[in-house]
Parts: sequence; C-alpha cells; structure tokens
Amino acid sequence: MQEVIIIGAGFSGISASKKLNQANIPFLVLEARDRLGGRVYTKKLSEDLYLDFGGQWIGPGQDRMYELCREFGLEYYETYDQGNNLLDFGKKVRKFKGLIPKLDIVSLINLDLVLKKLERMAKSISLEEPWNHPKAMEYDRISLAEFISVNCKTISCKKIVSLALETVFASELNEISLLHALFYIKSGRDLNTLINIKDGAQLHRIVGGMQSLIEKMAAPFHDKIHFNRTVKKILQENEVIKVKGEDFELTCKKLIIAIPPPLVSKLEFEPMLSGKKRQIIDRISMGQVGKCFMVYKKPFWRENDFSGQAFADANSPFQSIFDCSPKDTKYGILMGFTIAKRAREYFTKSKEERKNIMKGKLIQYYGNEAAEPLLYEDFTMTDEAWSRGCYAGLYPTGAWTGFQNAYSKAEGNILWAGTEASPIWFGYIEGAVRAGESAAESVRLAYKNS
Ligand SMILES: Cc1cc2nc3c(=O)[nH]c(=O)nc-3n(C[C@H](O)[C@H](O)[C@H](O)COP(=O)(O)OP(=O)(O)OC[C@H]3O[C@@H](n4cnc5c(N)ncnc54)[C@H](O)[C@@H]3O)c2cc1C
Repeated sequence: MQEVIIIGAGFSGISASKKLNQANIPFLVLEARDRLGGRVYTKKLSEDLYLDFGGQWIGPGQDRMYELCREFGLEYYETYDQGNNLLDFGKKVRKFKGLIPKLDIVSLINLDLVLKKLERMAKSISLEEPWNHPKAMEYDRISLAEFISVNCKTISCKKIVSLALETVFASELNEISLLHALFYIKSGRDLNTLINIKDGAQLHRIVGGMQSLIEKMAAPFHDKIHFNRTVKKILQENEVIKVKGEDFELTCKKLIIAIPPPLVSKLEFEPMLSGKKRQIIDRISMGQVGKCFMVYKKPFWRENDFSGQAFADANSPFQSIFDCSPKDTKYGILMGFTIAKRAREYFTKSKEERKNIMKGKLIQYYGNEAAEPLLYEDFTMTDEAWSRGCYAGLYPTGAWTGFQNAYSKAEGNILWAGTEASPIWFGYIEGAVRAGESAAESVRLAYKNS
C-alpha cells in the first residue's frame, strides 16, 4: 500500500510531490497525459523555438513562483511593454500609451469610476470566507456582465471593461458571479495587477518556457510519476483508499486530488462525496481560450514604436494580443487570445483560415511586414480531454453563497489541491503551487503524528 497517491502531474500535484519527497514520505503520482504540466504546456517546435500553449506569465505577489525560479536557477525576463498599444474598434484603430486608451472624456471618467468601484468592492472581500461579506448575497445574485451593464454608461467604456475582464477570466462575463469576480480580483492582489504588464501578473516569462520549471521540480522523483494512468474510480473503505483505472488498482492511506473540477466530476466515488461537494463540482465551469501565435524573423513592430499589444472589440477574434518574443529576440512572436464566444467561432474555421485571419489583423495593425510570418500555430485546452477548458474553474451566481468552500475541503482521507482549491492566486500557477503545498503539509502533519 502507498502512503500517499497524488492524482495529476500539473504544478499543483508536482508541488505536493516535491514537498512529500523532501519530507521522505512515500508517494506515487498518477497522470492521465504522457507529459508533465497539465494546463502548462511548452511546445518545442525546433531547437530554439518554443511556444507556451498554456500558462506562461508570472508577476509580483507570486512569491512561490519566484522562489522556485531561484531554487532551480531559471532565468526570467520582462514582457516587452514599450511603445504604442492599439485599440481596435472596427474601422478605427487608435494608438495609445500606458494602460488607458484615448477615449472621449465621458467614457474616460466612466472607465475610471468602474475600475475604482471594482477595486474598492474586491478589497472588502475575505479570501477565506467570501460568502460572509455583508453584501455577499447581493453580489452573488448577479453576474459580472450585469454589473458592467449597470455601471458602464457608454459603449466605449463597456467594450473596454468587457475585453479586459474577458482576458482576465477567459470567459463570457455572464457565466461568472460578481462575488466570484471580486474574490478572484482580491485573490490576485487587485485588478490593476491582474490586467497589467508593468507591476502586474503578465510581467515576466521564464526563458525556455514555463514547462521547464515543472520538469526541474519533478526531476528528483520522476520515477514516482506514472504517466498514461487515468484514474476513474476511488473507493474509501475504513482507512484504505483504492484508486482504480482501466488496467490498475492501487491502495493508499491518503489521496491528493490535483485535477480541474470538471474532471473531478468524471470520477466515480464510493461512498459518494458529500452532497455539497458534488453540487459545487457540478456548478463550477471552465473558461474557454485559444492562444494563437504568429512567428516572425524578428519583432519588427518594436522598430516602429509599437509594443505589440492590441485590444479589440468583437470585430476581431482576438480580445488581446501581446508580444511573446523570446528574450534573445531570435524570433518575433505575437500571441493573440481568442476567448469565449470569439474562440468558439474562430475554432470552427480551418487552420489555414485561422492563420489568414490573424495575418490580416496583424497587417492592419503593423503594415506589410506582418504579411510574411515564418509560421502560425494555435492551441486551445478546451479540446483537451484532461483540461476541458481554461484558464480555470469559474463560480456562477449562487455558488459561493450556496456552497462556500465545499470544493477545497478534505473528505475523509481525500485532500483537494489544484489551483481552484487555493484562496490566493486562484486560477494561476501560483495558486496551483500553494494548494499543492498546503495539501502536502496536511499530509505531512498527519504522518508525523501517526
Ligand atoms: C491558455 C492558458 C493560459 C494561462 N495563462 C496563465 C499565465 O500566464 N499565468 C498563470 O499563472 N496561469 C495561467 N494559466 C492558468 C494555469 O496554467 C493553471 O492555473 C495551472 O496550470 C493549474 O495547475 P493545476 O496543477 O491546478 O492543474 P492542471 O495543470 O490542470 O493539472 C492537472 C493534471 O491532472 C491530470 N488529470 C486530469 N484528470 C485526471 C485523471 N482522471 N487521472 C489522472 N490524471 C488526471 C491532467 O492531465 C493534468 O496534468 C493559464 C492557463 C491556460 C490554459
């Protein structure tokens, strides 16, 4: 019998494993895919060209991520953030510098008021108990989209707030409760941090890609990670937990589940999980995002004083575009996020059509130099059986007040990790690491006292 089994070799499962390994507690990791990383996936296209198809950025406040980079000697670098950004409202593409685009004065005042209101409201939320806020019921009754409808008085203000928040949540805003949005904002420090490059969550990237970090973390215990092992059934009998898949059956004393909520709902539990746990799992949905990359010989837009950042209304498939070139600028790479409804429409087209659509947009933004890319690639984890969406699980209206923290609570000897179990940096890699470490710490304490 194993002491501990961990399901999932994403950042959360591997952070839990790392801690158990350091504490000399025997464990085993079961992973459905044939690779590490889960929602982090660095695709190597050649010796010197890689693309981060999943999570890629780290920023201030993500202390564990910076500590891990230091521990494993990984270099990180700043996201390019100089020159003009673009705001694309169809016929008109406007240049602007900094965070706030040039708008009419009424829209600018409106935008300032809405962002400040969201910041103020988020500040008052408790990360441990969001449902205990005096206005929790009021905030949990409406969606983020309804909040925007009521508070954004001009079309320009509404468009900008919507595309910024869609980029933050990777979702249609009517699918998220306002209370969840406020919790999420506070969980990632504040709204300014979440939407910004400068001093924000998009500040740094790891040289070589994000997956290189998890590979280094897992190297000391790689032999304990069993790939292509999909867990299907979990049975708790007295103090023994049976973990079953198609062609394996293992037993353990403690189990850490570090997989996305929609995939927990596919597991069969005996006895069944508590009613609250089952119902919250059924309610949490995942966002939907595609990352689309156009690779050039060099980041030519920088020479023309463009940052590579562009933000667009629904005339474009891309809510936002960022410069994702490598540190050594051996290539110039622009990455567009296509999110929710825009992603669903975009991915009905063939890859050739998608490439031409993105190329057309980039020519419109940066001129004819954009017409000759080296290659185009895109990827969406919505179509991946072992992610089922991204970036993370989202709480709809009524979920926080109805079910509180039922998702992250342990049930018997089963503990929950994964970014969705973290009150801090929920949805981010930092949250995944913290939740994994926290579950492993609970196991360590129980082991020490046994
Ligand atoms: C496109 C995209 C962009 C993102 N950008 C950023 C970013 O820039 N910065 C940031 O901080 N975060 C970002 N995120 C979010 C971040 O990647 C995730 O929050 C984080 O990676 C989640 O880690 P996790 O370990 O909780 O879950 P996962 O990474 O999902 O790991 C779960 C693992 O469990 C495995 N699994 C699932 N079911 C089973 C089963 N039944 N049996 C066995 N194994 C199973 C899966 O294969 C997977 O490997 C992004 C995510 C995506 C998808």
